[in-house]
Amino acid sequence: MENIPANIVQRDPDQKEFLQAVSELLETVKPVLDRNPEYRSQAIIERITEPERAIIFRVPWMDDQGRVQVNRGFRVEMNSAIGPYKGGLRFHPSVTLSIIKFLAFEQVFKNSLTTLQMGGGKGGADFDPKGRSDAEVMRFCQAFMTELSRHIGPNTDVPAGDIGVGAREIGYLFGMYKKIRNEFTGVITGKGLNWGGSLIRPQATGYGAVYFTAEMLAENGESLEGKNCLLSGSGNVAQYTAEKILHLGGRVLTLSDSSGYIYDEEGIDAEKLRHIMQLKNVRRTRIREYCEKYSHAVYTEVSPELDYNPLWNHKADCAMPCATQNEINEQDAQHLLKNGAGLVCEGANMPCTPDAVDIFRENNILYGPGKAANAGGVAVSGLEMSQNSMRLAWSEDEVDKHLRRIMKSIHTTCIDAAQEYGLQKNYLAGANIAGFVKVVNAMLDQGLV
Ligand code: NDP
Repeated sequence: MENIPANIVQRDPDQKEFLQAVSELLETVKPVLDRNPEYRSQAIIERITEPERAIIFRVPWMDDQGRVQVNRGFRVEMNSAIGPYKGGLRFHPSVTLSIIKFLAFEQVFKNSLTTLQMGGGKGGADFDPKGRSDAEVMRFCQAFMTELSRHIGPNTDVPAGDIGVGAREIGYLFGMYKKIRNEFTGVITGKGLNWGGSLIRPQATGYGAVYFTAEMLAENGESLEGKNCLLSGSGNVAQYTAEKILHLGGRVLTLSDSSGYIYDEEGIDAEKLRHIMQLKNVRRTRIREYCEKYSHAVYTEVSPELDYNPLWNHKADCAMPCATQNEINEQDAQHLLKNGAGLVCEGANMPCTPDAVDIFRENNILYGPGKAANAGGVAVSGLEMSQNSMRLAWSEDEVDKHLRRIMKSIHTTCIDAAQEYGLQKNYLAGANIAGFVKVVNAMLDQGLV
């Protein structure tokens, strides 16, 4: 954190996830600041780390027992220099202002890398949809949107899903927006196919992360064919990361949820993955149930007290964390190194701690940072917005081609930006520098606003 100007730390000393994200960016953009003195004289770091707007609101709703529940809602509109705010909503008990600010901050640079015109924002609530009935989730979403609807709009701020916000929640949120505002617009992405959604949007983050991984491997004369991969999570991103790895000839050995993980040494093939989708998306149950059907697989409970996650301590070629922030720490990184992993690519946002990233870099483990690797989701959200504006729906093949082109372009942009500053193969520096420069130059063009 020493690299963050003192006034930024002093303003929010307790926002550790946000300060972690800022610190990681500042470490890599220092050469850009040195080369462009006007960035410092125009207080760009102070400006870019302060949200344009942060809204915190009460979300009162009634549970199935008739008890009143109160949650806290957030929307952080971080930066609109290159387009309307865009970024998902997270419903999870761990949500705080720090978490939403870190996600919104990352989103600014991620969106900049997609080549589309989108600013950055993020939102959510400390509401846990797990174990709630559909009726409770609907009442919560309606209460949440009652306030959020004042702040968003198709040309202002366009939310989407994230942890705990999938197709069901997007439906309830969109329905309430439409009722309150009396307009049918592309105000939220990830919509159902027959009411303005885009083909490939559910798959986009996972598919995109694997396209990015394939580009990283190709740069080194390799491919995913036959590679053993460790994956965490079993939600939207993990499921479609697994699916695309299988399409490209790789093997998936693990998947997890917040209670534990499954290890299937025979590999999780397409049929087993379909079963997992059924367990997680339809029955909304726990990953441990996988072993009831596939008894040769091993389920391991992971205690939050443990200072490493045994999931990352298996022999594998690649690791793709797809669950949540800070899920790979220094010890996990040492385990990956010891077990011969040559690549770590992030489907989740900030899943690797700075110490873990140092270990990857010091030991030549290829490292794809989330803001580049998982940008496919927001990129296809951008394409959903375009289709909504044109009142058209593109084919699956068309959207997938756009996604592949965008991921390839992000990969090239990272390589080129890193190279420009003499930091060959440093994807973290490349992503941060390229994402940062575009936004900062737009901010300077637009004056002090
Ligand atoms: P989902 O809610 O669909 O799935 C999240 C998965 O991660 C679940 O398996 C969940 O387990 C697990 N998980 C959540 N919190 C924790 C935790 N604290 N510890 C361990 N496991 C946890 O979310 P997504 O798949 O959409 O999101 C996953 C990650 O990808 C997040 O970091 C998100 O920000 C990022 N991302 C998502 C995008 C999208 O388009 N959806 C776009 C870009 C990034 P459990 O069921 O037990 O909670």
